[in-house]
Amino acid sequence: MIAAGGGLGSVLLVGLFLLLGGSPSQIDDVFGGQDQSQPAIEGGEESTDALAHCQTLEDGNTYADCRVDYTGISVDNVWAEVLPQQAGIDYTEPGRNIFRDATQTGCGAASSATGPFYCPGDQTAYFDVSFFEQLEQLGGSDAPLAQMYIVAHEFGHHVQQLEGTLGLSNYNDPGADSNAVKIELQADCYAGIWASHADKGEDALLEPITPEQVATAVDTARAVGDDNIQQRSGGEIRPDTFTHGSSQQRQDAFLTGYNEGSMASCDFLERGVYNS
Ligand SMILES: [Zn+2]
Repeated sequence: MIAAGGGLGSVLLVGLFLLLGGSPSQIDDVFGGQDQSQPAIEGGEESTDALAHCQTLEDGNTYADCRVDYTGISVDNVWAEVLPQQAGIDYTEPGRNIFRDATQTGCGAASSATGPFYCPGDQTAYFDVSFFEQLEQLGGSDAPLAQMYIVAHEFGHHVQQLEGTLGLSNYNDPGADSNAVKIELQADCYAGIWASHADKGEDALLEPITPEQVATAVDTARAVGDDNIQQRSGGEIRPDTFTHGSSQQRQDAFLTGYNEGSMASCDFLERGVYNS
């Protein structure tokens, strides 16, 4: 149990990105428009020493980088079970690289301005610790949930990579009905699937998640819908430029995954290939 201290158990969610005020192309998911044929680099090597202080569950409830690391383990555990069962695909763990300031990735250089993202080129999820520290300042007590949601969302893109659908997303072809939005909402839904399974079973790493926690998390998730972000940055709301979905859509996607716990309920691409 990562339950020690209650922080981690206290749960989930939130949308991500954009908290740094960068343009959407710089945040989350750097895969859009990136050259995916570059040779993969070793993922996670920098993490090893940097995470030496992550020894106990209490550390996971105390330090953002440890929390990200442990959450990754929880997300891996859930998908190792769910993906074969529901999609007939074996789950292979993505690399997770928790860095500070800057790092090289299979999708090019990443800095603290990049925000969390998943790189299909090296099948690694990248998380900048300073981003999470800012998130803590912005999110107060809800910060741990925000962090966990971000991890689960990015791992959701890895699941899509394993499914062979991630490449359908193209940030250069945005819009409310675009594949980019469908892929992002599905990642939110997959994060919901993680949350629905993470506090259950003998090996659960999370304490039971309460409805109140989910509600709080959902409120936070709404804050990062494309419409809210556009509004906050002083622009008009333009659905034709959406890449991640509206606040309502992001909330609904997460809750659908959370309430149903099934990949079939997250089938926004209408592939009809899941066992439920
Ligand atoms: Zn995403």
